[in-house]
Amino acid sequence: MKKINLLDLNRNMMENFFLNLGEKKFVVDQIICWIYKKFCFNFSLMHNISKKLRNKLLILCEIKLPKIFDIKYSIDGVIKLVLNVNNDFIETVYIPEKRRKTLCISSQIGCPIKCSFCATGKMKFKRNLLVSEIIGQILLVINFLKKKKYFIKNNQYITNIVFMGMGEPLLNFDNVINSIKIMTDNHGFSFSKRKIVLSTSGIVPYIYKLIGIVDIIITLSLHAPNNTLRSKIMSINNIYNLYDILKAMSVYIKNSKSNKGKLNIEYIMLHNINDSYKYAVQLVNLLKNFSVKINLIPYNNVYDVIYTKSSNERILLFHNYLKKKKIFSFIRKTRGLDINASCGQLCK
Ligand code: SAH
Ligand code: SF4
Repeated sequence: MKKINLLDLNRNMMENFFLNLGEKKFVVDQIICWIYKKFCFNFSLMHNISKKLRNKLLILCEIKLPKIFDIKYSIDGVIKLVLNVNNDFIETVYIPEKRRKTLCISSQIGCPIKCSFCATGKMKFKRNLLVSEIIGQILLVINFLKKKKYFIKNNQYITNIVFMGMGEPLLNFDNVINSIKIMTDNHGFSFSKRKIVLSTSGIVPYIYKLIGIVDIIITLSLHAPNNTLRSKIMSINNIYNLYDILKAMSVYIKNSKSNKGKLNIEYIMLHNINDSYKYAVQLVNLLKNFSVKINLIPYNNVYDVIYTKSSNERILLFHNYLKKKKIFSFIRKTRGLDINASCGQLCK
């Protein structure tokens, strides 16, 4: 009999499971607390749970995490963990800053969207990650940092989660939603919804589907201010075009508290492709009816990709034009470049 991995179940699923076993609902609080607060993955050690139930759990269930395959340390403090998930590999990236400790997690093995500038898109798409493989990235990293005795104030090993690793999170909708429910559960990690960011290439039906299910911050990988250019660099734009995506985003934002009425945009800076004055003007026009925050991302080199990074001067010119037009924008600091852990470089 295949054992149930408890890491695949959110609170509701666990409640159903334990009610079916004839147990009371409060056991779920205890189990969630053992796993996600105390990092205990061994049923025998869960001493406030009856021996009878512990024995049942040993037979029926497991708490199975991905395995650490490799660890890479950047000179800037970023740590990349390569994880083995059922003999496939994914990457998860820990990005410590003074105030924030961000974990950039993966949602798929490879990515079927295949944007022309992204290393993950160059890999063969294998499959969606399970909830246990998504949530397992957080558990593993916290456990790893604890064991390494990293000193972190107030035990806040991770303060922010970003779905900016491998894969298009909205294409793994159910598992991503269930893992967000676990992340925000009060007896578990208790992450605030405002500290979870989901980055998407713009899968319109799923942007609408998010409404009323979870209210996290979403950010759109726009990367071009018109359909012709966007379709050239992101073929998904032939299916969901710019205007439909922006409409969906505006409806989501209206229904969201976490986004605080702001449209978050990511715009990768590709030399001579999308970084000229002309495109800055188009971008301002396109977004004139939104309250926006634009994150300019210097392109990170990817093997076998024809693009090059915009020069710092061109990025600054673009940035200054947005500033002049009173658009809130900033240039994303590149982190983890020496270990291929920056945006778009994950491709184990
Ligand atoms: N699939 C999602 C999230 C993962 S990628 C998405 O595309 O939004 C996270 C961010 O890195 C996205 O904005 C993506 O466009 C960007 N990115 C991809 N390849 C990159 C590269 N080579 N250099 C810089 N950013 C890149
Ligand atoms: Fe997939 Fe995002 Fe990479 Fe595009 S940028 S291929 S959507 S991971």
